[in-house]
Amino acid sequence: MRYGFACEDCGEVRILGQGLTHLRWLRDREHIVREVDEHTSSGLETWMSEGLAFLADHRGHPVVVISEKS
Ligand SMILES: [Zn+2]
Repeated sequence: MRYGFACEDCGEVRILGQGLTHLRWLRDREHIVREVDEHTSSGLETWMSEGLAFLADHRGHPVVVISEKS
């Protein structure tokens, strides 16, 4: 299985190549991860940056974690 975020308003999907737990963690702690990003020089892992970008694009929309067969 592959997991990603989906926006229920736009129908847009972003597969992020991480497990369910990771994606739920990122969605629920988005503001903390953004803080960390601002104060670190090494930057975030790619999937985190992509996930945050998706959440930013769909601010105020219902974003859910989805799974699909790979
Ligand atoms: Zn959206």
